[in-house]
Amino acid sequence: MKNKYDYLLVGAGLFNAIFAREASLDGKRCLVVEKRSHIGGNLYCENIEGINVHVYGPHIFHTSNESVWEYMRSLCNFNHFVYTPIANYKGEIYNLPFNMNTFYQLWGTKTPKEALSKIESQQLQVSYPENLEEQALSLVGTDIYHKLIKGYTEKQWGKDSKDLPAFIIRRLPFRFTYNNNYYNDIYQGIPIGGYNPIFEKCFAKADVLINTDFLSHRELTNKAKVTIYTGAIDRYFDYCFGQLEYRSLRFEMETLEIENYQGNAAVNYTDRETPYTRIIESKHFEFGKQPNTVITKEFPAPWKDDGEPFYPVNTTENNKRYEQYKKKAEQSKDVYFAGRLGAYKYYNMDEIIQEAIILYNHIKHLSL
Ligand code: UDP
Repeated sequence: MKNKYDYLLVGAGLFNAIFAREASLDGKRCLVVEKRSHIGGNLYCENIEGINVHVYGPHIFHTSNESVWEYMRSLCNFNHFVYTPIANYKGEIYNLPFNMNTFYQLWGTKTPKEALSKIESQQLQVSYPENLEEQALSLVGTDIYHKLIKGYTEKQWGKDSKDLPAFIIRRLPFRFTYNNNYYNDIYQGIPIGGYNPIFEKCFAKADVLINTDFLSHRELTNKAKVTIYTGAIDRYFDYCFGQLEYRSLRFEMETLEIENYQGNAAVNYTDRETPYTRIIESKHFEFGKQPNTVITKEFPAPWKDDGEPFYPVNTTENNKRYEQYKKKAEQSKDVYFAGRLGAYKYYNMDEIIQEAIILYNHIKHLSL
């Protein structure tokens, strides 16, 4: 039957979950098509040893947007977790993000004045940092750059820091207080019980097809008037303007017969030689007291056609190519491109939620 559904939602990640929730509250019908064997996108958690393991990397919800926070709180209860990752540089331990604790560990400086003068003596003087290296050196100076940024960044992105956009490093706070909170946002927490129940709620009224690659079943668009596509935009258009670049990840998970492996949810390995960027011990997200623990090593990996694209690589060249796809997308009738992969943007979760609500409200009045 044609147009049995109001919306065809390609991808069962956060964007489409929020979209589906909004649509179903209005009594609209959604069909969800998901390539993987589960809903939840990269927020999916697997329960192992009674621990909600973040299987696609750590996801800490944080926002300064009051209405997004209230929205999420209508879907789950948050605990009081605050993300305070530790850096391990060749066996030396430092607090992150870069703050008075880090400066003390590096140089023994005790006051903001002492730390500032140390940093000023190392800062690169440049008016407009043109790449990540210049941005980092002009902000934090050489010691922090070489011990805590360069190795991690070049592993993470598989590129020289000089070839990466400056905005990536501006995601990290840099402050002259003894404050190890990785985020500057007002609200932060982990959903008690993990992320999966949120997705079950959002998709409760939708029909969901898992293990189904939409691009091999494009005929599914006939089932709905409007399609929301959250997969990679270049793949949708058969790479007609060439491939966009993504960065992928590979995860190695281990169950250990000890209660506490590293004493923290995340330890970043900031040297170049260690092949993984971080080890996540998921039980600490929910203050778990289980007798065993599960750790996940995160290995950055080149993205290949059959792999999972995790991060868009927003260099000038890639962004230019994306603009071509975006123009083509704007001409596609009744198809909207969204999410990190559809919009080729390094979004945080709160931005995704906001964008999904905006898009739904924008198109809900269009005649269906
Ligand atoms: N970064 C770094 N050292 C660290 C952590 C992060 O240099 O110990 C840099 C790195 O370039 C990374 C960027 O900061 O890509 C953004 O880090 P974030 O934690 O926001 O990355 P995500 O959690 O999204 O992978």
